Amino acid sequence: APYGTADVHELIDSTLLMVSGKIGPRIRVVKEYDRTLPAIPAYPGELNQVWTNLIDNAVAAMDGDGGEGTLTVRTARDGDRLLVEFGDTGPGVPEEIRDRIFDPFFTTKPVGEGTGLGLDISWRIVVNKHHGDLRVESVPGDTRFQVRLPLTAPGA
Ligand code: ADP
Ligand code: MG
Repeated sequence: APYGTADVHELIDSTLLMVSGKIGPRIRVVKEYDRTLPAIPAYPGELNQVWTNLIDNAVAAMDGDGGEGTLTVRTARDGDRLLVEFGDTGPGVPEEIRDRIFDPFFTTKPVGEGTGLGLDISWRIVVNKHHGDLRVESVPGDTRFQVRLPLTAPGA
């Protein structure tokens, strides 16, 4: 799909609809959107892939607690960037693997359940294709994957 402009809230909402079947009934989805944020330059289909990967991981992380928890999707302005944050209440990303989770094929999931490619692909879409930033802040019960995207096209 071509480079265009996208309303991230519309993209996230359509992704949430697509994956709603995978989000169990005991997982609460909370949206904290800053609706005043403008549309941004983006490859919409690829950003949807990022949201899908991050939501998938968040839901998988909460599965251990009987599929219970809260998925919080927050947007905010952060300087000249738009922040999209996916928060979950799962056990968190252990310190000792935090610098490896974005590596291709790194997974802690059983064989057949995880490819270890979700975060690698997300990294390439956010960082390489959108000149953005992807990082994680995590303590047990409060994990946040944060995507930062430029509000304006480079050189614009
Ligand atoms: P996969 O989901 O196939 O394992 P990913 O690249 O999406 O591959 O994620 C890599 C690893 O990062 C996961 O196996 C898991 O160990 C860790 N991880 C990702 N998201 C979360 C999260 N929300 N909470 C805890 N761990 C996570
Ligand atoms: Mg994954």
